[in-house]
Amino acid sequence: MEMNTTILERARAYRDDTARVLSDLVKITSYSGKEEAVCRRIVEMCEEYGFDEVRIDGLGSVVARVGKGPKKLAIDGHVDTVEVGDPDAWNKDPFSGDIAGGLVYGRGTSDQKGGAAAMITAGRMLKELGYDGEFSVYFTFTVMEEDCDGMCWKYLIEEEGLKPDFIVSTEPTSCRLYRGHRGRMEMMARLKGVSSHGSAPERGVSAAYKAARAALAMEKLNEDLQPDDDNFLGKGTIVVSQVDVKGPSQCAVPDQAMLYLDRRLTWGEDADLAISQVKRYMAEAVGDPEDEIEVTMPDYTKRGWRDADYGQELYFPTWKIPEEHEVVQAGIAAYESLYGKRPVVDKWTFSTNLVASTGRHKVPAIGFGPGDEDQAHAPNEITRVEDLEICSAFYAMLPYALEVGAKA
Ligand SMILES: [Zn+2]
Repeated sequence: MEMNTTILERARAYRDDTARVLSDLVKITSYSGKEEAVCRRIVEMCEEYGFDEVRIDGLGSVVARVGKGPKKLAIDGHVDTVEVGDPDAWNKDPFSGDIAGGLVYGRGTSDQKGGAAAMITAGRMLKELGYDGEFSVYFTFTVMEEDCDGMCWKYLIEEEGLKPDFIVSTEPTSCRLYRGHRGRMEMMARLKGVSSHGSAPERGVSAAYKAARAALAMEKLNEDLQPDDDNFLGKGTIVVSQVDVKGPSQCAVPDQAMLYLDRRLTWGEDADLAISQVKRYMAEAVGDPEDEIEVTMPDYTKRGWRDADYGQELYFPTWKIPEEHEVVQAGIAAYESLYGKRPVVDKWTFSTNLVASTGRHKVPAIGFGPGDEDQAHAPNEITRVEDLEICSAFYAMLPYALEVGAKA
């Protein structure tokens, strides 16, 4: 029997098991930085299915390997979730993990424990098939993504030396094949004024009025931003998300202003460019030299469940892989061999761990995952059991398709 048929049959046979694995994972609350219990459960499951190596890294992510080939393929799913929000907005317990009518219910079903469940079944199938090909297939169940996307992969690559040849994110794509998303960064801009008594504003220079002009300059910058060359990712954006103005008293001209900025980056835009744009637009608007306007990226410093001393600046670089790249083509071939038609090729609106592996470290990547992006962070989150089956087959097929692609 052909490998694609074997994999399809097994994915179908394990469909209910995959749904039950997801249900189990949903029942274990795992907010960012508090993933220990869900990670321990995943270790148990991977060991039960005979994965070749299962370990927990220094930051707290589970790394489970099948195969021992010289090349490395990583299939990644984050196992933290956002919180519930208003509990009254939920029709049932957010952690019920109920399975009914072809759906699995609860926080994290789409974003993205469904991906993790499909990965576990894929590894189980590869073990049963005796996969012994060119790849070591790493299934990574990663932590703290919702707080600081990609930090877990920055850690795996820079601290643990696990740099794969290819990576797949299993964040929700509705079983479409994704090949990019915009990056993002956060910035703080600081402007200085000269304080004076509130009764004599003409003696001072107001940091508040500078902040107002600087904010309007960001509105102008947002309008001036351009899409990427082929308009695949669209244009970047900038938003003033907070403004803070201070002075010696409430009866004084303020001398300090801070603007907090959210910047989405399209292809070709990076941190240096974004910072220089902010300085230029603000300098022109407020009449200060550019070097007097301080623009910095704040750091993320929260500790995870293993209490590792690790952080990074709030910079999440853009990634985009050309459609003709071998990893995109292998993804298309894997899908076609299973389902007899081409997958839809598109992009995410939100950001994923691929900002680190691919935006920062240039590992060729694709995205393919169960569930819908618009379920992420929403009340009454669900995913489809059908998608879990499709994705488990896709992940198991991919190492074979990559090998065929390399030989073609
Ligand atoms: Zn996610």
